[in-house]
Amino acid sequence: MQYRSPNKFEPSRRAALNALAKVDPALYSRSRNFLDGAVTGLSPWITHGYLNVREATQVLMEKYRLSFEDKLIFEFAWREFFKHAHGELGSGILSDVRRPVWHGKYSQQLPADILEGRTGVEAIDAGVAMLYETGYLHNHVRMWIASYVVHMRKVHWKVGADWMYAHLLDGDLASNHLSWQWVAGTFSHKPYVFNSDNVKKYAPKWDCSGTVIDTDYEDLESIARSKRDVGCERTAPPVGVAEPIRYGFEMDLLSDTLKRKTVDLRQQAGVESCSTVISSFKKINLVHPWDLKACFDSTQSGELRVGLIDCAFHKAHLWNRQRWDFVLSAMEAGCDQLWIVNTDEIGHCAAIQARFAQSGTEFHLRETLNSGYSTMGRCLPVRWIPEDKLLPNPTRFQQSFSRFYREATLIAGSLEEAVHGDTLVD
Ligand SMILES: Cc1cc2nc3c(=O)[nH]c(=O)nc-3n(C[C@H](O)[C@H](O)[C@H](O)COP(=O)(O)OP(=O)(O)OC[C@H]3O[C@@H](n4cnc5c(N)ncnc54)[C@H](O)[C@@H]3O)c2cc1C
Repeated sequence: MQYRSPNKFEPSRRAALNALAKVDPALYSRSRNFLDGAVTGLSPWITHGYLNVREATQVLMEKYRLSFEDKLIFEFAWREFFKHAHGELGSGILSDVRRPVWHGKYSQQLPADILEGRTGVEAIDAGVAMLYETGYLHNHVRMWIASYVVHMRKVHWKVGADWMYAHLLDGDLASNHLSWQWVAGTFSHKPYVFNSDNVKKYAPKWDCSGTVIDTDYEDLESIARSKRDVGCERTAPPVGVAEPIRYGFEMDLLSDTLKRKTVDLRQQAGVESCSTVISSFKKINLVHPWDLKACFDSTQSGELRVGLIDCAFHKAHLWNRQRWDFVLSAMEAGCDQLWIVNTDEIGHCAAIQARFAQSGTEFHLRETLNSGYSTMGRCLPVRWIPEDKLLPNPTRFQQSFSRFYREATLIAGSLEEAVHGDTLVD
């Protein structure tokens, strides 16, 4: 039996604001752990920059009295904590932060029964089907799937994290990969395990009784710390769901309209044609996939808005078609052009950089931690716009969420000050 995702995820600012208008922080706080609870479903829009958590908090404070004690603010802060950790650890978030809880060799492949949602454990199978269909999962389902994949089936967390990231509309390297590490025990002190009673409490429509997780926590933790792969259930259905294809960037992902707007800066011809165009503009607003609100901002005359795709990033982190469409349709609607670059081709990037710097045009781009895009300065002479955050960054790296929250809220003072103050400067 299926649970519904909280929203239809249209790639527009209006849809994001409509979803925000439905949020009730008190109801959220009481029910957020339940699959049919009043979760916000804002994550795809937040991840892709249609909305940021500071602005969302500001809007909610016009209707509700909120403080740092509110559960919703606390959850917004988890997102910022993971970004804080990403900023400190860099690409280190993609490998074990601590030693794994079991010292054997985890598999580098997801078994077909997991990929196809036919393990026989309903919480996993229904979750996988929902992931593919909607691009969204409730936090509990993400935790259950990650725990099952790593601890019950002995698959390395990174393999599971890459797979889930590709199919989530909100896939965010910091929140996703560090959450998988938290579940695995490589970014926490112990493995996260769950049993059928936990599923029954929070997702009563899903019956996991009689399966491998129908046992106590001690038993589950000992499986997690052993080499045992429990395999799929004997009662598992023979057929499940098909995994959508995962893509790096390909020209075929573009609609005909977007193809007509596209300039391929990996080709010399693209660089030449661009060089003649850009000098007639004072400013070029570059928009990457995590800043999509900028597709719909008003532009001054003499400005050009350009969507940006870095093939190097997308070669390392694949997305399914649904995710690509979510991003590209906004770029198609709001950008004058789409530029394709490859930050892995250093020599070529340096040549573009030298050529474009001569134009005297300003290139503006919002800061991001996503590799390739974060080093776009190698390729284009960009001026960085700071990321908009709710909380100030603690001066030292805080490895635990509670320490991060204590320190960041202390620096901020009150929630009002955090919302209205200048948290852009670390
Ligand atoms: C294995 C795993 C993978 C995850 N992958 C992602 C991911 O790729 N992208 C992502 O945005 N979140 C991820 N999360 C965190 C969390 O599950 C989602 O942010 C949340 O479920 C999104 O749904 P929502 O907007 O309805 O959340 P709500 O509960 O309504 O929360 C509101 C907002 O607060 C933030 N938030 C809430 N909980 C968390 C959390 N635990 N960590 C970080 N931010 C949080 C999100 O921005 C969310 O949109 C992951 C969690 C786990 C356990």
